[in-house]
Amino acid sequence: MVDERAQRIAEFIAPLRVEPGRKVKLHKDFDPRLHSSTVSRKKEGREILQTGIALLADYQARLAAQDTYGVLLCLQALDAGGKDGTIRHVMSGVNPQGVHVSGFTVPSAEELDHDYLWRYAARLPARGDIGIFNRSHYEEVLVVRVHPELLDRQKLPPESRKRIWHRRYREINDWERYLTDNGFRVLKVFLNLSYDEQRRRFLRRIDEPDRNWKFSAADVRERRRWKDYQKAFSEMLSRTSTPWAPWYVVPADRKWFARICTAAILAHTLIEIDPRFPTVDADTRAQLAAARAELMAQAPASANGRTTHRPTAAAGAGRA
Ligand code: ATP
Ligand code: MG
Repeated sequence: MVDERAQRIAEFIAPLRVEPGRKVKLHKDFDPRLHSSTVSRKKEGREILQTGIALLADYQARLAAQDTYGVLLCLQALDAGGKDGTIRHVMSGVNPQGVHVSGFTVPSAEELDHDYLWRYAARLPARGDIGIFNRSHYEEVLVVRVHPELLDRQKLPPESRKRIWHRRYREINDWERYLTDNGFRVLKVFLNLSYDEQRRRFLRRIDEPDRNWKFSAADVRERRRWKDYQKAFSEMLSRTSTPWAPWYVVPADRKWFARICTAAILAHTLIEIDPRFPTVDADTRAQLAAARAELMAQAPASANGRTTHRPTAAAGAGRA
């Protein structure tokens, strides 16, 4: 049953995965409007998402209990791509103690005084945790690439600017490999929005007063650079989808579908890790049995009838 579910999830996300080494042309290769033939309606999608959320909650509890692996989900998108809503929905069922969301905006003076990966390294998840980067170290080859003046603020020594993008892709790949080798799985989701859907979402943010706060004049300014961003995204996907940390391009024009895909990608990774609740050794089991006997002996006379049905120490040990 679990294997069958795992298989279905793996098949569902396979077309979204960018094969390492593949040369991506975003506008040709990935359709933002796409949704699967197996999940074509929003209502059906909602049910699947609920199942996915329950599955994530279960796996996250085990990931935390095992305390060996950590998971980092990097979310990238153009403005209005739906990062916030995706995080809110996908993580709605998991224990908030085990999830840490970090958003990244324009770097501070302190951050600019360090190497460019410094601020991202400081927000990595601990073992047992799921970390979510709402924007991530990939901004360093996206917005910074589209606006080279941002690079000037990074105080790089002149020799570090040679072949800088080529080098940054390599450094990011190496960093993610290092994390993976040390028990931290890195997965990367690009919410792929179409030009026209972005226009509609911006208009909604302008026209609906409750959404006004989400809109900034900078958003339309960035939109004018659409083609440059598409190029930067394409190159990022081509250069940094690796066997250890693949990119997934999620069609984002339908929010409900983007959420199902993201939940499935996260679930797939957790299923692969297959975290287990720790079991206890014989010594600990003996201690549990002794503690149980002591607690049982303290039961008030009226509670005896109820406590006799409790599980044995051995059965209870597995859940301790
Ligand atoms: P929303 O999609 O809801 O608007 P957001 O992620 O765009 O949320 P904002 O605070 O509006 O959040 O914008 C963050 C800004 O920070 C973006 O314009 C992004 O390009 C910029 N930014 C992120 N990382 C860097 C970086 N390393 N260098 C320069 N700018 C960056
Ligand atoms: Mg913004």
